[in-house]
Amino acid sequence: MAPGDIQAFTADDFTAPQAFENFCYNGGKPLGGVIAGKSVPGSMNAVIDVINPGTKEVLARVSEMGYDEVNLAVEAGYRAFQGGWKNTTLQERAALIMKLVELFERDKEIFLACEILNGGKVSELAHGDMGAVRRTAEYFIGVARETTFGDSSVQRVRRGLDGYTYAEPWGVVAGIIPWNYPVVLAAWFMMPALIAGNCILVKPSEETPLSALYFAKLADEAGFPPGVINVLPGRGELSGKFIAEHPGVRFIAFTGSPGVGQSILRAADKHGTRVKREMGGNGSAIVCADADPELVARLIGRNANQHFGQTCSTIHRVFAERPVFDDFVDASEAFFKGLKIGNQAERGTQLGPVINSRQPQRIIQGIELARANGAEPILGGGRASVPGYDGYYMKPTLLRSKTWSDCNPAEIFHTFVNVQPVDSLEQAIQCANNTRYGLGSSVWTKDLELGQRIAKRFRDGTGQVNCHNTVAPGIPYSGQGISGGPGAGTNCAETLRDYLQVKAIFVSDYPG
Ligand code: NAD
Repeated sequence: MAPGDIQAFTADDFTAPQAFENFCYNGGKPLGGVIAGKSVPGSMNAVIDVINPGTKEVLARVSEMGYDEVNLAVEAGYRAFQGGWKNTTLQERAALIMKLVELFERDKEIFLACEILNGGKVSELAHGDMGAVRRTAEYFIGVARETTFGDSSVQRVRRGLDGYTYAEPWGVVAGIIPWNYPVVLAAWFMMPALIAGNCILVKPSEETPLSALYFAKLADEAGFPPGVINVLPGRGELSGKFIAEHPGVRFIAFTGSPGVGQSILRAADKHGTRVKREMGGNGSAIVCADADPELVARLIGRNANQHFGQTCSTIHRVFAERPVFDDFVDASEAFFKGLKIGNQAERGTQLGPVINSRQPQRIIQGIELARANGAEPILGGGRASVPGYDGYYMKPTLLRSKTWSDCNPAEIFHTFVNVQPVDSLEQAIQCANNTRYGLGSSVWTKDLELGQRIAKRFRDGTGQVNCHNTVAPGIPYSGQGISGGPGAGTNCAETLRDYLQVKAIFVSDYPG
C-alpha cells in the first residue's frame, strides 16, 4: 500500500430523504418516547431540540421521559414478558429480529440521515456502521442456537443429590447508549437482549435519539408485541437516572463515559441491579523502528480521526521509537494539516463538527492541560470556522512531548494526538500502560511475531497489530481499568450470558 492511498474517512454529499424529514416533523408535534408500542409525551413537559451540529439547525423536537414514563415502560415490559414474550421460541424471536433487520435495510437512508445530519458523521463511516445491524443480529442468533436455555444436563452431586442449572431471561433490561455510534451500539444491546428473551428499555443519548425512536417504529411494523421494545429519550441525569434507579430493571448495559458509568453503578446498586459497563478510552499506538513512518503516520492519522476522534478507543497517545520519531511527526503533521475541515454532509469533508456546544470548551481545556504539562503544539487545535456553516467545528491537535510526561491523562474526545519518543519497545509498553484506561491500543511493525508479543502486553481489552479501532462479532470488545467491566465484554458469545440469569437447582431424594 502506498502512503498516498491512505486517506481519512471522507464525506460524500448527503441530502436527507423526505421520509426522514416527515419522521422528524411528526405533524408538528415533538416525537414522543415509545412505550408499549405507543408514542408517549413526557410528563415533565420538557422537550429537547435535536440538532445538526454542523449547522445548529433543529432537526426534530423530542419529549423527555420522566419518572412516570420509566415506570410505565417497566410495567409495559413485564406485561409483554409475562403475557407471552418469555414463552416465545428462539425461532420466533429470531424471525422477528430478522424482519426488523430487513426493515432497517429498507429504510437505511433514514438511519444514514440520523448518523450524518444529527450525529455529525461523514458518509464513509456512517455507511460502514449500517452493516453492523445485520452482522450483530445474525451473530447473536447463531450464538443463541448454541446456548442452553432452560435446564442444563443434570449432574450427580453425590448419591441422592442432583444439580443442574436453569437459564432464563431477566425480564426487563435496559441499554443506556452514547451519541457517537447510536446505530451500532443500539444493535449491540438490542440483539443479544432480545434473542435471549428479554423485554428492553433503550435509552438513547439526548444528543442522538432519532435512530432508536425509528427502530421502535420499525419494531411495531415487524410485529414485535407492544412492550417488548420501549424507547425512553431524555437527559441522562433525569431519564437515565430514573432507569438506573428503577428496581424493576434487572440488568443494565451501559456504554458511555467512565464518570457516568460510576454514577449508574452506584444508582443501580441500591437495588442490586447488575450493570455491565463499556466506557471511554485513551488509546495508544506504538511505532516500531522497522515501520515506514510515513505509511504508519497516515494509518494512525486515519484512525485517530475516525469520527473526528470521537471513537472510544481512538488513538490519543503515540510512542515512536527514536529512529523513526522525527519522520513520523513530520508525516503526521502533513496528514493532519491536509484534513479537509467542513460540513459533514458535503463531499470531501474529513473533519466535521463535534457533537454539541459543550464539546469545544472541553477539548480546549484538554489542550490547555496538555500544554501546561509540557506538551509542545505542532498543530495547536482550537475552533475552526467553515464558510457557509454555523456549526461546532474544531481543528485537529498534534502535540509532541517528552518521554514519560503525562500530558493527556484523560480522554479528549477529538482528533488529538500526543507523540512521545521512546528509547526501547519495553519503555513504549510501560508508557502505553501508564494510564487508568484500558480499551484499545495498537503496535505498528513489519514483524508480526513481535507485534503480537507487544499486543498481548497492553493492559487494554483489545491489542492490535497494524490496525486500530477494530471490532468483529465473536471477539470481545471490552475495557479494563476505568474503561469497563465486568465480564468478557460485548459483541461476543459470553455477552449473551449477560442477558440470562442462570439459577442453580439442586434436587435431593426425599428423606425418609
Ligand atoms: P455519557 O456517559 O455522557 O452518556 C452516555 C449515556 O448515558 C447517554 O445516554 C446519557 O444520557 C446517559 N447518562 C448520562 N448521565 C447519566 C446518569 N446520571 N444516569 C443514567 N444515564 C446517564 O457519554 P457520551 O458523551 O454520550 O459518549 C461518549 C463516551 O462514551 C466517551 O467516553 C466514549 O469513549 C464512550 N464510549 C465507549 C464505548 C465502548 O464501547 N467502550 C463506545 C462508544 C462510546
